[in-house]
Formats: sequence, C-alpha cells, structure tokens
Amino acid sequence: LMLCAENRKEMEDWMSSLKSVQTREPYEVAQFNVEHFSGMHNWYACSHARPTFCNVCRESLSGVTSHGLSCEGTAHKRCAVRATNNCKWTTLASIGKDIIEDEDGVAMPHQWLEGNLPVSAKCAVCDKTCGSVLRLQDWKCLWCKTMVHTACKDLYHPVCPLGQCKVSIIPPIALNSTDSDGFCRATFSFCVSPLLVFVNSKSGDNQGVKFLRRFKQLLNPAQVFDLMNGGPHLGLRLFQKFDNFRILVCGGDGSVGWVLSEIDKLNLNKQCQLGVLPLGTGNDLARVLGWGGSYDDDTQLPQILEKLERASTKMLDRWSIMTYELKLPPKASLLPEPPEASEEFYMTIYEDSVAAHLTKILNSDEHAVVISSAKILCETVKDFVAKVEKAYEKTLENAVAADAVASKIPPPCPFMSFLRLK
Ligand SMILES: [Zn+2]
Ligand SMILES: [Zn+2]
Ligand SMILES: [Zn+2]
Ligand SMILES: [Zn+2]
Repeated sequence: LMLCAENRKEMEDWMSSLKSVQTREPYEVAQFNVEHFSGMHNWYACSHARPTFCNVCRESLSGVTSHGLSCEGTAHKRCAVRATNNCKWTTLASIGKDIIEDEDGVAMPHQWLEGNLPVSAKCAVCDKTCGSVLRLQDWKCLWCKTMVHTACKDLYHPVCPLGQCKVSIIPPIALNSTDSDGFCRATFSFCVSPLLVFVNSKSGDNQGVKFLRRFKQLLNPAQVFDLMNGGPHLGLRLFQKFDNFRILVCGGDGSVGWVLSEIDKLNLNKQCQLGVLPLGTGNDLARVLGWGGSYDDDTQLPQILEKLERASTKMLDRWSIMTYELKLPPKASLLPEPPEASEEFYMTIYEDSVAAHLTKILNSDEHAVVISSAKILCETVKDFVAKVEKAYEKTLENAVAADAVASKIPPPCPFMSFLRLK
C-alpha cells in the first residue's frame, strides 16, 4: 500500500485516519470531515434487470442479472478499485475545472454520468430517444437527471437547475473550503431552504442503509448524515450558521430524541424545524405529527421531500422533569416526636400554655400567681419566637439547596417547531 497526497496536511490526515482505525479510536471532527467531503465512492453490490455497463472499462456486467457494484455509476468488482474518486460532488473544490465562472460569479454545471439510461430516456435537446442497451452511451446529469445525446451535450444549457429537489439541496458551489475549525463554510445565497438529513442506518431491518443511499442520490451527499457514524453533532455544526434550516430525521423516536437533545446543546431550536420520517418500530412522535407509522418504500423519497417543503409547522411543548433532593429533618435523639405532626404538636402545647396562664393572670387576686404566670407566659412566647426563627432558617436552607440543584439542570427549551404533513 502506497499513500499519496497532494500536500503535507492531507498526508497527515490520512496517517491519523489509518492510525485511528488501527486503535479503534472514535473519529476526530477533522478526520470525519475528510471522509464526509472526500467524494469517494461508496460501492455496494447490486443487480440490474437490463443490460448494464461498467463505467470504468465500458464492458457489460456479467450474468443475466448484470451483477456488479453500484454507487453513482456502475462497475465490475474488479474495476471498482480503478475508478477515480469522482463520485457526486460535495464541495466547490470537488467540482474542479468543470465550474462555470462568468461575470455573475460561479454557477453550478451539470455533472454528467455516461450510459445506463432508463428505457424511456429522451434527449432534452432533440427530444429523440437516447441511451442504448448495447453499449455505454449518452449522458445523464446526477443532479437534475436530465438526459442528452453525446452529440447534443454541448448544445444544452450549461447551468444545472438541480431538478426536483432543488429547494432542499445545498449545491456543491455553496460549500467552500474548510474553516480553521475543520468545518465547511457555506455561501448562503445559493441555498433556498437547506435540508439536513439524519438517517439511522440501523433502523428498520436495513431500511436505513437504503434510505441513506437514496437521499445521497437526491441531495448533496454532504448534507446527509448517518446517525450511526458520528451522531447528530457534526451535521448540526455544519448547518448552525444557516439562519433557518430544516431537519429530517429518519429513524425511531430514539433517533429523534437524540437529535433534539443535540439541538438543545447547540441552542439551535429557534433556527430550525424538524420533521420525522419513521423507520422501524417505536414511532409515536411521527404518528402524532401526521407522518404515519413507518416508511419502507425508498422510491417515494422525492415525493416526501416535496411534501416536506410544503409542510406546515407545529409547535410542540416539551416538558422537562426536574427532581429536587431535599434533606430530611434529623430525627430527635431520645424522645421520639410524633412523626408528621411534630410542628402541630408544639403549636398545641404553646396555645394551651398561653391560654392557661392568661386565664390565671386575669382571674387571680394573688400577686405571686400573677407574677409566676406572667413569667411562664414570657418564656413561652420567647420559646415560640425561637421556634419560628428556626423553622424559617430551615426553609431558606432548603430553598438554597433547591436552587443549587436547579442551576445544574440546563434550562429546558420550551418549544421546538416540528414539520407537520398536511
Ligand atoms: Zn460514487
Ligand atoms: Zn469494468
Ligand atoms: Zn444537471
Ligand atoms: Zn439529442
């Protein structure tokens, strides 16, 4: 194995990635981003019902079912290693020399992939059928899905309109070189209503993996994150500079809760709305919001994204449960106090004593009795005041303790807007 890199920084990133795999250390942010924005292919085994051709060697895939590897594009297993790292673009840098520059600045070009067009393919320029089942022929744009003949390609408008999901897409021209903190900088004017997608790849019997792939095909792969690979933190950090963005969580209630708590931590609840695409079991929240029980059809995703663009928002109360720890009053050492009623018990004694001695003072003619009763009355009142003072101090103490506990709990985020399907 020989490692080649453009520069020293990239070389070091590679070295630390390899080391972390060896020692099974969790990804560092910078390392994660190297992978997330790399534009490397993610090949998976795939069969095709019709003749399909390898994008690397141009020969047909073998067998009746055209078995091979798929990503954006198709390849023989033996050819996939030779495929260049030019998967779907993620950042401005990944577009390279194809970028369109004019007096208005930069614009997004089409990203053409050759051959393997669907049966009914029609050329957008001459309106005649295009593609072939005999060879790798004619082109399709990975973003707007437009198809053209090789001869017509240069006649077609060079700027890509991004297609059906354009409102949700962050075009690669919007994602600039990485910041000093290892995060991509976005040019917000290129984004209409960016959508951040989190998929739990472990959800719903491998359904998550399929959804992950489909979303990467429909959107910029850099805006689609696998919750099982790095959690929600990195995606939210990438999006936190947008004034307003939408989030789609594909998974169960547990996945939604995970994303919500991270939104709280980063204090993003005012700038984003969240929608839920339920996968697998345990989707009570999705049911409440009108998203239904569970999705398993990944061919419906373009329609779902469109619905999501039109969805109204609903504010949901979110309750926090707060618990306080209070000190119990110390048990009296010798004489067991009547439990629960101890304060009341003392009050009755004071009351009786005061009443008895006041009566004596009022009724008695004997100086000695009046003086002794007055003395006891004074003692009783003094005792009582001391008792009240003590009780008050105890209340204050408890309040301070309660405040201390409360200050350790982050203030609950009172509302979070959720996207609700009509
Ligand atoms: Zn690829
Ligand atoms: Zn091949
Ligand atoms: Zn296009
Ligand atoms: Zn044509």
